[in-house]
Amino acid sequence: MAATASPATTDAMLSRRDIFKYLAGGGVGVGTGLLLGEVNQRPLETLLSTHIPPEDFSPGMDTWYNTLCRMCPAGCGISVRVREGRAKKIEGNPGHPVNRGGTCALGQASLNALYNPDRLRSPMRSDGEGGFVESSWDEALEAIAPRLGAMQSAGMGGRTWILTGGSLSSGEEALDKFGEALGANILRLGLDTPATELAAAKAIYGFNGLPHYDIAKADLVVSFGADFLGAWRSPVGYSKAYGEFREGGGGHRGYLVQVESRMSLTGVNADEWLPARPGTEGALALALAAELLGRSGPDAAPAGWEDLPGALSLDEAAALADLPAERLHALAERLASAKTPLVLGGGAAGAGANATETLTCVAALNRVLGAAGTTVRPNLAHAPRYSALSEIEEFVAGAANGEVSLVIVAGVDPLHDLPDSLGLRGALDRAELVVALDSFPSDTASAADWILATDTFFETWDDDISLPGTGKLSVTLQQPVQKRLYDTLSVTDIVLRLAQRSGGALAEALPHEDAEAYTRSEWATAWTNLGIQDDFDAGFRQVQQQGVWVADLAEGMADQFSAEAAAPAAPPEPQFAGDASEYPFVLHPFQTPGLREGKGARLPWIQELPDPQTSVAYGSWVEVNPATADGLDLRDGDVVEVSSQAGTVTAPVLRYPGVRPDVIAMPLGQGHQANGRYAQGRGVNPASLLAARGDDITGALAWAATRVALRKTGERVRMTKTSGVSRTLGRQILGPADEH
Ligand code: SF4
Repeated sequence: MAATASPATTDAMLSRRDIFKYLAGGGVGVGTGLLLGEVNQRPLETLLSTHIPPEDFSPGMDTWYNTLCRMCPAGCGISVRVREGRAKKIEGNPGHPVNRGGTCALGQASLNALYNPDRLRSPMRSDGEGGFVESSWDEALEAIAPRLGAMQSAGMGGRTWILTGGSLSSGEEALDKFGEALGANILRLGLDTPATELAAAKAIYGFNGLPHYDIAKADLVVSFGADFLGAWRSPVGYSKAYGEFREGGGGHRGYLVQVESRMSLTGVNADEWLPARPGTEGALALALAAELLGRSGPDAAPAGWEDLPGALSLDEAAALADLPAERLHALAERLASAKTPLVLGGGAAGAGANATETLTCVAALNRVLGAAGTTVRPNLAHAPRYSALSEIEEFVAGAANGEVSLVIVAGVDPLHDLPDSLGLRGALDRAELVVALDSFPSDTASAADWILATDTFFETWDDDISLPGTGKLSVTLQQPVQKRLYDTLSVTDIVLRLAQRSGGALAEALPHEDAEAYTRSEWATAWTNLGIQDDFDAGFRQVQQQGVWVADLAEGMADQFSAEAAAPAAPPEPQFAGDASEYPFVLHPFQTPGLREGKGARLPWIQELPDPQTSVAYGSWVEVNPATADGLDLRDGDVVEVSSQAGTVTAPVLRYPGVRPDVIAMPLGQGHQANGRYAQGRGVNPASLLAARGDDITGALAWAATRVALRKTGERVRMTKTSGVSRTLGRQILGPADEH
């Protein structure tokens, strides 16, 4: 029961650059190299002639290139099948430690981004009337670089704001260097950043990264809100591990308990589903921790944890969470008798106003169980710092005061993904110049003055260190698997060109010719710093073949948990925006495996992919518990108005027994105002309902802390569903007959 502990601080953690050094020291690690291609020498093919074929054209022959999937931050390695110079099919890289040969639907559909008819094919300039006209790179860079140069000379770089996502990649680092050299402000944004998970890990485990959860090794997994089989953090890697957990390598089939107010894909697969009242997950976890400490005695407790102030008894916690007390007692028994238990926390449990306190209690339960160091391991990579709502407010206020000269939006879509209540649209309207770097006319890009058309990840160089990680050190290389289809550049290329044209400190910080040179220089520098004698070109080519560079943890690195973590405090009562008398339901937005926060909406394969639980495709819906629906006289397909203090949307009802009666759930990802023909105008965006409310500790957006009201409109629609109805249509099949 005692937690594994040895001295560690964040200083023992590794920055992205340190990891490069460490890996270089370990040499090339495991991996199954596939075919090597000299991709840079491939000629541009638009039409292929078999009379004079390009050098590497072999009719009927496939070539596979290992690279990186960039559709979400999980950082899976993929193998892309290329024929006649065109990417055709994606498989998981079997030698990659994150996904071990697997991919998800979104990764598979990423080819839709490459060949999408609505991809931007060149830089675009706003015509000032809501439209865009094609431009050239020269014209685009000339419109931006002199402004950057002038701000640089005048020491007014702080009038520039860079809005980005925050990956651990070379491209992101180039953007960081650009921002630092200019003195610009950087906002790392997203609806579902792991800010609260990181804060909890720091408080309890003592490291500044996301923990690696070794699900395969566990015999009992209790997940507080983390939909790890659906869309949470690293779903392919976790699904692989889940298969091993269920197979029971140690002779015992793993047991899964899911605690959440809306049944997720993971909840569907669980042995037990506990529909806790939203925001009470931390109190539950702390009560379980106190119960287990009480059973094992003070000697087994981590130092200073003999007493957990404010912890409820199991009966009190069950009452607070609206759960049967006997189920909580049974869960305590399971945890006490498990040999390798693991507790996860995330999703809506990590997105309330008390999210950090909640996840701190969940992590504390892992320490009480002795899971820290066994089923919970450090990932070692320093996580980026995600922006708090207060920083976004600072940007919005600066724009309102005329203090924002330039906004660079790099690959994120905050006008869609974040709540309207933050006021970002007004801030972009007021900024002097807005430049979006995107492959698509996203909602945000469509509000810009310039859209600088970017490559897809199939067409350019980069790399990535997976934040959810694997407990091993690895860097995945992204390489072009085919020539550019259009007149596009990567984000790194654009940053490098802007820096060169602007001159001064910017040009000095980023002297590289292009993204390939920049990426290679990052790797070569690491090689040199560590005195690696191997030929760099040969080594780099080997990494190109393998797609990833992997090293096992060095001796002692698995135990980098802080010896002294303060005992967790009881989480405060859950707070929600909106008065319960006016807004009686808690809104539970959720990500589907395909759409996620919205990136999948532009991909036709994802639009036609039915949601795995409800089988709905192409639109949005409102999940309402049948008891609640009966009370409001709502049937499937009845259109309701969902309103909060922040906004209103309308969508059809889906009666869903897997949601608590006091909660309604809506999928994220749809409701784009732009973003191409497959996304635009389809469904509604529940993010527009969210209040600008932050987590108490980190200030991260509390996207699960808004109350809403429902109103029947009287309209009805037929939803696009692949399944039939779950009602018995008047026939007594199982139990009493229900309504028609
Ligand atoms: S989980 Fe993310 S990185 Fe992995 S295949 Fe799916 S979209 Fe790509």
